Amino acid sequence: MVKAMGKIKDNGLIQDEPLIFEQGGEGRKGYSLPEWDVEELEAKQFIPLHLLREGLDGFPQLSEIDVVRHFTRLSQWNYGIDSGFYPLGSCTMKYNPKINEEAARMKGFASIHPYQPESLVQGILRLMYELEGYLAEITGMDHVTLQPAAGAHGELTGMMMIRAFFEGRGEKRRRALVPDTAHGTNCSTSAVASYQMTEIKSNERGVISPRKVAEQMDENVAAIMVTNPNTLGLFEEHLPEIAEIVHSKGGFVYCDGANLNALMGIAKLGDLGVDMVHLNLHKTFSTPHGGGGPGSGPLAVKKELSPFLPIPVIEKEEGGYRFNDNRPRSIGRMKAFYGNFGVILRAYAYLLSMGAEGLKRASEMAVLNANYLMMGLKGSYYLPYDRPCMHECVFTDRYQEKHHVSTLDIAKRLIDYGYHPPTIYFPLVVKGALMMEPTETESKEGIDRFIETMIVIAKEAEENPDLLRQAPRKVKVRRLDEVMAARKPKLKWTGDREDNNQ
Ligand SMILES: *Cc1c(COP(=O)(O)O)cnc(C)c1O
Repeated sequence: MVKAMGKIKDNGLIQDEPLIFEQGGEGRKGYSLPEWDVEELEAKQFIPLHLLREGLDGFPQLSEIDVVRHFTRLSQWNYGIDSGFYPLGSCTMKYNPKINEEAARMKGFASIHPYQPESLVQGILRLMYELEGYLAEITGMDHVTLQPAAGAHGELTGMMMIRAFFEGRGEKRRRALVPDTAHGTNCSTSAVASYQMTEIKSNERGVISPRKVAEQMDENVAAIMVTNPNTLGLFEEHLPEIAEIVHSKGGFVYCDGANLNALMGIAKLGDLGVDMVHLNLHKTFSTPHGGGGPGSGPLAVKKELSPFLPIPVIEKEEGGYRFNDNRPRSIGRMKAFYGNFGVILRAYAYLLSMGAEGLKRASEMAVLNANYLMMGLKGSYYLPYDRPCMHECVFTDRYQEKHHVSTLDIAKRLIDYGYHPPTIYFPLVVKGALMMEPTETESKEGIDRFIETMIVIAKEAEENPDLLRQAPRKVKVRRLDEVMAARKPKLKWTGDREDNNQ
């Protein structure tokens, strides 16, 4: 008897795939071992009974080919930067040279263990020490820690260091200023680090004006957290003046440099009055952000704040490199061991292969591509801030609204055309935002094709809006009930496919 595992569909080469729990059979295995030439023992003879499991209910039993095919098929349903244009704003989903992946997989790197003694990992320490130096140079700062595991974690590290600074002087500053164009993580970081947040409204040009900061700045403010380029993809052009205002009352300027793709090799944030800045290696420096893998959010600081850096700090001395734990004013450890080394290593390989000139060129191309895209779509989509942008541009659905078509519909329709949608409904200061970041690695033809597709979609919105409202239709999973998924998530496999498909 053939047991049907689900509906059979004629999808051509993209076969439908049952869940792994629905596959396999009793006793099937992915390995075969030679016959024992020693006496066979039962597990309970040497493992305490209370640690032994009777069996695993519903655990799939599969052969090697079952497993390989299952995951290969699933991977083919996926969309990644290696499959096509991925304009997910603020995430910098650019193509990263495969040589950096090769480097990260080299045995000497991939097989090290964090408990190896310093004497056996001198090369690793040197690599991290040098990377810290390069990042300090790029940002115009004095010291860098590679510990933070992501951008938001870098922010938290920074704000904790600022708190330690003031507490060390017996000052209790309670407030943090955060512009409405800052990244959402800036607000949560200041809350998690126990600051009361005051929002600074951006002006009609989409940036913060010094006057607004001066109105709020007092001796109870520990820091301002500015995102630059901000979430509108615009350069905070008054930063030096704002820094002066903040410094005059003894506060610090924290810069969120997660989107350094627009600035590297061109502007050093340290020269603009910034006291500390985090970078996202998993955006700008050879690891994609939106891919869901590990990240790394190094924090760069000015000398005055160095004593508070998390321990250990890598130091170079005669005869080699070492970790220094003996730093009495440090905020302590922020992460097990010393950060996500695989991501750190890719960034190092990227910097060495790009060189200073290459980095600058990458930023120039990122900004050029974003402005080219912006000019191509202007007229078809509403552009709330009509001025040159940095590495990304923000449009809205205002023109499409009258046809009852929303940003979500536009994003879903792009999937039918084979594109990963841009970031939507972010930044929050723009209603119905569509935030697009082409990155420096797209060719002119690639961007042209995307512009054409977006224009076709704008026409469809006028002439046949249902096409958008029912999108996506050419994919395995149609439009999901996102509200239901958020309100009543089913997080457990019940064994019933229909039940889990609802
Ligand atoms: C991506 C991003 C962050 C957060 O980075 P994570 O690594 O996701 O924590 C913070 N600020 C800005 C401006 C970003 O673009």
